[in-house]
Amino acid sequence: MSGAAPPDPPPVLLPGLAHVELRDPLFISDLHLNVGAPETLKRFLRFCAEDAVAHAELVILGDLFEYWIGDDTLDDEGDAVSRGVASALRGLVAHGVRVYVMHGNRDLLLGAGFLRATGAQLLADPAVADIGGRELLLAHGDAWCTQDVEYMRFRASVRQEATQRQFLAGSRATRLAFMGAARLQSEAGKRAKAMEIMDVTPSVVDEALRASGLRLLIHGHTHRPALHRFALDGAPAERWVLPDWDFDAQPPRGGAIVVKAGRLTRVRLDS
Ligand code: MN
Repeated sequence: MSGAAPPDPPPVLLPGLAHVELRDPLFISDLHLNVGAPETLKRFLRFCAEDAVAHAELVILGDLFEYWIGDDTLDDEGDAVSRGVASALRGLVAHGVRVYVMHGNRDLLLGAGFLRATGAQLLADPAVADIGGRELLLAHGDAWCTQDVEYMRFRASVRQEATQRQFLAGSRATRLAFMGAARLQSEAGKRAKAMEIMDVTPSVVDEALRASGLRLLIHGHTHRPALHRFALDGAPAERWVLPDWDFDAQPPRGGAIVVKAGRLTRVRLDS
């Protein structure tokens, strides 16, 4: 064993960047990439090659993958989706694009191996971005869906070091079976679905903005793309919500947020 690298810590212990400077970012989230959505995967690979490559930064605000059982899916015997996506991100990084990734609720096991394989940097949730002197808050969004008490309990559990260590210690087959069972069981499927149709609690978002001192934020998770303008303590505030992607559905859908002339702007992708 001498000379072997120590095992990676569970992802919950990885330090994510809490502050990041961005020049020309492309924000996306909730692609839910998986082997059952080949068109969405193809669209993402094309998006990397044609769109992301023209930006200074690609910022992924969670749920890039539908599920992530551990970084060993990037090994030689790993799966095609994990390896294809990692290869595309590594290509962007090699091209000079900075890639930032935040954990979502579905891929919170993305770990040090994924970061090494891609050259991506992990963002804390929430994180503050500075774009040309203008600061905004970035988050996945699930932490603010506090009305779903059962999910909040589940969330707290899967973000514990012991829970992650125990799960990751299982064989790949065991982990896949666990994840597959959770996704296939109709009961669990409905719960997973309910988790994402639950919207953020406005007062909780207000508190997060107050705590950061910011009045502008981008998040994903809810699959309810929108720009919400509201007043917070007498000051105008904006909450931008990213769309999810599904190019295996009819009509296909997806999108991003970019900065044009200093202003956030939505980009719709429908083909
Ligand atoms: Mn999510």
